[in-house]
Amino acid sequence: MIEYAVVGSGIGGSSMAAYLDAKGYETVLFEKEPYLGGCSSTFVHGGYAYNTGATTLAGYQEGHIVKSMFDKIGFTPELLVTDPTIVIIQNEKITPRFSDLEDFLEVLEKNYPHPKNREFWTLVHRLGKEFYALHGHYYSNRSLWHKLISLTSFFPLLVRFQRFLRTNAYDFINDFYGDISEEYQKFLEAQILIVAQAHSKEINFFTAALSLGYSFNETHYVPGGFGRLFDQMTAKMKYIKRNTQIEKIERHSDHFTLHTKNESLKAKKVILNSTIYDSEKLFNDEKVKNYYQKYETLNNHQSSFMLYMTIRSDKKYEHHYQLIQDEQYTHSISNAVFVSFSDVTDNMLTPEGHYSVTASIHTDVRFWEDKQTYQSKKSELQTQMLKSICAILDINEEEIVHQFAATPRSFKRYINRSQLGGNAITMKNFLPKLPSNDTPIKDLYQVGDTVYAAQGWPGVMLGVENLRGLLDV
Ligand SMILES: Cc1cc2nc3c(=O)[nH]c(=O)nc-3n(C[C@H](O)[C@H](O)[C@H](O)COP(=O)(O)OP(=O)(O)OC[C@H]3O[C@@H](n4cnc5c(N)ncnc54)[C@H](O)[C@@H]3O)c2cc1C
Repeated sequence: MIEYAVVGSGIGGSSMAAYLDAKGYETVLFEKEPYLGGCSSTFVHGGYAYNTGATTLAGYQEGHIVKSMFDKIGFTPELLVTDPTIVIIQNEKITPRFSDLEDFLEVLEKNYPHPKNREFWTLVHRLGKEFYALHGHYYSNRSLWHKLISLTSFFPLLVRFQRFLRTNAYDFINDFYGDISEEYQKFLEAQILIVAQAHSKEINFFTAALSLGYSFNETHYVPGGFGRLFDQMTAKMKYIKRNTQIEKIERHSDHFTLHTKNESLKAKKVILNSTIYDSEKLFNDEKVKNYYQKYETLNNHQSSFMLYMTIRSDKKYEHHYQLIQDEQYTHSISNAVFVSFSDVTDNMLTPEGHYSVTASIHTDVRFWEDKQTYQSKKSELQTQMLKSICAILDINEEEIVHQFAATPRSFKRYINRSQLGGNAITMKNFLPKLPSNDTPIKDLYQVGDTVYAAQGWPGVMLGVENLRGLLDV
């Protein structure tokens, strides 16, 4: 019998499996797809490679969670620094988000002048630095008692930041500035949405500050695509089963039996990297099903619509752009698209000057359920995104060598989930309500962006670190 079975090779599953394997625990990693990484993977379409979703890596710096976990695994990635982290374009105003506060303030003041800018962004900068310096959070869901005890580990955070945790972000920002233009509000809102996965009216100011401050962290580009990072991170693992979907899991008194289409395997402990909304389908067991089903209320049905392109161009592009327009895009929930370009020196993602472009916009899973209108909606949003990206970034149609779109249904087909971006930490869904990395079911664990702590590389890695503590490994 194997010690650990890890189901899913996203950030959470791959890093936990690689860590356990490095520590000498017999571990098998199952992945439904041929490639590792889930939302952070790289795939090939029409002979060209594309990052599936994630394109920016934050948190790989001294004292930060991603670096600390990679160090524990014994893995040093090959990376390029991205600075500015993103370039925001709104109504012909170009604002690079430099990681240096002063550099950023200089350009901000030109584009969105306001006497309160310095004070506001200094606060945002400070809150991020103070948050990342706090360590030792612990969050367990095993029982009410464990939950209460674990909440005490957040005491220093609650005490220190209580003023910002209690206040709604939209109100805080508006009170702080006194008068705020609609344009600047949209500028802030778009940046909050890509990190917090929620609008300022739904979250506290502390979450908003961490989102706005994301670009002050060191951010990296992964040469060769994010998928390469997962291949390298798990390179020493003995047991990786790609193209292998776990279809059912049976719970026994001292072990689990995991069933694939062709075989069964016994494991003492199971770590699921499927979402909290999809894990339930793996079991027939009522106790397990009931546990997962109670979290369905957290499901915000948020997802992404993707446009992938290969363009042949001699122009120089930054790694990442956020393009903000006044009107919301059709069949979406946003007025901003996030566009990432491969680095011109990256031979794998940019062969012979062919840039790989991954563009995304927030949407709702439910917009894509009706089979009758699916194709027409898809081509409408694809055309709209394509038109505005080409106009703003000066791409000619003849430069586009290959392009195609993906919807929440495409994500479901490939990586078995349609809700994307994890659970937003809103005023309503704060910590005690969030699922943890352990469960009340003995030896059953969860990791990934729909459980503690949050989405993205830093958010999922905080959960991996928490799980490490809970397992005492
Ligand atoms: C469009 C988009 C852009 C993003 N951009 C960024 C970014 O720039 N930077 C950033 O830090 N974050 C970004 N994120 C968020 C980040 O990508 C995710 O939060 C993170 O990758 C989720 O990791 P996870 O551990 O939850 O696993 P997932 O990515 O959900 O992966 C789970 C894996 O499990 C596999 N699986 C599921 N069920 C089974 C089963 N039964 N058997 C076998 N395998 C199974 C799936 O195939 C998948 O590979 C982005 C997300 C999206 C959607």
